[in-house]
Amino acid sequence: MDEQKKECGQTSLDPQDWDSLRRQGHRMLDDMLDYLQNIRQRPVWQPAPGDVRRRFDVALPVAETPLATVHQQFLDDVLPYAVGNPHPGFMGWVHGGGAPVGMLAEMLAAGLNANLGGRNQIPVEVERQITRWMRDLFGFPASASGVFVTGTSMATLIAVWVARTRLAGESVREQGLPVEAKRWTVYASRATHGSFAHALDLAGLGADCWRVVPVDAHQCIDVAALKAGLQRDLAAGFQPFMLIGNAGTVDAGAIDALNSLADIASSHGMWFHVDGALGALGMLSPEIAPRLAGIERADSLAFDFHKWGQVPYDAGFALIRDGELHQRTFVSRAAYLRREQEGLAGGSPWPCDFGPDLSRGFRALKAWFTLQVYGAQRMGRMIAETCAVAAWLGEQIAHHEELELLVPVSLNIVCFRHRGQDGADVDALNAAIVVAVQNSGLAAPSTTTIQGKLAIRAAIVNHRTCRQDVDVLLQAVLRFGRQLQNGRREG
Ligand SMILES: *Cc1c(COP(=O)(O)O)cnc(C)c1O
Repeated sequence: MDEQKKECGQTSLDPQDWDSLRRQGHRMLDDMLDYLQNIRQRPVWQPAPGDVRRRFDVALPVAETPLATVHQQFLDDVLPYAVGNPHPGFMGWVHGGGAPVGMLAEMLAAGLNANLGGRNQIPVEVERQITRWMRDLFGFPASASGVFVTGTSMATLIAVWVARTRLAGESVREQGLPVEAKRWTVYASRATHGSFAHALDLAGLGADCWRVVPVDAHQCIDVAALKAGLQRDLAAGFQPFMLIGNAGTVDAGAIDALNSLADIASSHGMWFHVDGALGALGMLSPEIAPRLAGIERADSLAFDFHKWGQVPYDAGFALIRDGELHQRTFVSRAAYLRREQEGLAGGSPWPCDFGPDLSRGFRALKAWFTLQVYGAQRMGRMIAETCAVAAWLGEQIAHHEELELLVPVSLNIVCFRHRGQDGADVDALNAAIVVAVQNSGLAAPSTTTIQGKLAIRAAIVNHRTCRQDVDVLLQAVLRFGRQLQNGRREG
């Protein structure tokens, strides 16, 4: 008997010495807390040297390596060469900074190793709780459904799939798209994120069904042009099927006239989807919420907790008005997923009935911790402050003769550029400035193109970023701008 007991667990991956693992675990946790606490003392980003890169080109380890050794490798070779979005100087693309509470929750979720595909368990109830909170926040009805996904790209794809089910009927799941699908058209502004075209592609509709609608000087959809385009397409026998509104465009944070779009969608029987990846959680701020009016009329809303919500990656969310249609789009009849009234197979419907994933992690936990610990009010104040910082940066730029503000700052994104000297290649100059600023480790802006001009883009998404940080960016842009121009004249 004793022999048998000893054998049990011999190939388990649990440690023989739990105390040693515990000490090492505490050290790892402390190191990450130190990293966050002292993040301002680090460069925002630095390129990884060649010898560090080469250390990742080794064969699969056959023998054991002590945890402490691997952790040291992480500290030496991984941590210093990450993108740096937790740093307050990170303003590139649209990245959340993450908050320590979400990191701790992620550890708990991994310890529980919960599989949120379904079954009768409270972790699924946590996800349903977030769905109810989001339903209330965005003014969706009680029959609306929600599901955590990787990000808005996947949430948008889910929305397109559900919209497709409404138009084509459930038979689309077995028979594919009907022939008349060739005449379906969708409408979204030029400023819409590329994930929308990708979703049309992946849903089998083809990205060419997207009628690209022009934008105004604020990067908002041109509603008159949209209406004219719709009339032309209807007259030509097309079937308008979906309309996208942006609650914060990726380039400039522009908010489309959501109520006008909702009116147009309902008068044409179109599915109204809102891309709120970056801006939807502005709803938490009493100052920003009124600007999102009309979001409550969407058939579907895609947004990210990992951007303004500061939940660690990844945490996207799809909210669908017609929860039943959402379920009918994805529910599976596989025997091994059979539901019961009681026992572990109870608690239907399951999250796997609302998306393509079966096994899925406990993303809901880090959002649940974040929303509770900080509360809606403090989250809203943090979100409003990122907009105030962006507005302040915009004012500095507008008053500086060497700089040009390319779009009025409407939310938390600032697009600007160095004017350069007469005759200079201004696009090349600004691209070089951005690389120089990134390499300096002082700040990390990115670039985009606004009305054909290369722009320096500063997205203030991180809760840590304050006026001092955007001033560092501004000074660095001016300094490298002068240096690059002097270098060019001398060279
Ligand atoms: C970031 C972003 C997306 C894509 O979201 P992911 O979470 O990266 O998949 C889509 N739309 C907008 C406006 C975004 O800012």
